[in-house]
Amino acid sequence: MSRDGAAAEQQAAYHAALLAVLGPPQDLLARGGSALDAVSLAVDLLEDCPLFNAGHGAVFTHDETHELDAAVMDGATLKAGAVGCVSRIKRPVRAARAVMEHSEHVLLVGAGAEALAQRLGLEMVSPDYFSTEHRREQLRRVLATDKAVLDHDGAALQFRSPSGPTPPLDEQRKFGTVGAVALDAQGNLAAATSTGGMTNKQPGRVGDCPVIGAGTYADNRTAAVSCTGTGEMFIRAAAAYDVCARMAYAGASLAQAAEAVVMQALPAIGGRGGLIAVDRHGNFSMPFNTEGMYRGFARVGEAPQTAIFR
Ligand code: ASP
Repeated sequence: MSRDGAAAEQQAAYHAALLAVLGPPQDLLARGGSALDAVSLAVDLLEDCPLFNAGHGAVFTHDETHELDAAVMDGATLKAGAVGCVSRIKRPVRAARAVMEHSEHVLLVGAGAEALAQRLGLEMVSPDYFSTEHRREQLRRVLATDKAVLDHDGAALQFRSPSGPTPPLDEQRKFGTVGAVALDAQGNLAAATSTGGMTNKQPGRVGDCPVIGAGTYADNRTAAVSCTGTGEMFIRAAAAYDVCARMAYAGASLAQAAEAVVMQALPAIGGRGGLIAVDRHGNFSMPFNTEGMYRGFARVGEAPQTAIFR
């Protein structure tokens, strides 16, 4: 097959995966289901899909292990739950929801989070469940590459996997965290995010995803936000909360707030990535300052749409 043909086929695989994820939550919302259930279901499906960096298909740490982070937030109550550094919970987003609904805490990490998940009967797996050959090659490649070349703003480094076709977006320059935001018929907003983190991260590192207000936030008065990108900068910028704050305090529209965070506040400190957000009126915004971002949206009664590039 020609390179263009392979590229088209790869892009089609990502569009198909996104469409498969959008359908069930769209049906759930059409039946009057809650935004919280819709985002939980969407992230469940994304975690199971090896194309994305969450659940099965998560990236490797420097020690060739997996440490996953996930969060969920209910915009109606401002309740939130998150887990960090877990490696045996099959669907980390369910554990995040369990922390929210069955503990007095917001964030549990490592063995404690896994013990809660196990106690509540969530499905547990051996850590190698998350591994794929593609991610192992990605780690080897990053380990073998010197820091200067890893610079995201350096020369383009298209990742070529000997074991499979090249993904449409340069794996060194896009972020594969998964997330979902939703508005339901009752006017409630919710957000959920899940990730394997960043390839070659130091063991013990926790990114923005499970830090409420950084990678994940939802408030019925403003918006639901889920982020992907260089987690450290998203934490420092309180990125997800900043979108809501700009709306609440400065009267910004969702689009203005999201653009300002992704195109100004984050780049000002070297932050790269993007976010998906929906407001209480059903407006949505999905800005990114990278080459592309796998994304999609669905409204009840309308055909879902997906996109990769700008
Ligand atoms: N934000 C994630 C993290 O820093 C990485 C990603 O979005 O791919 O852990």
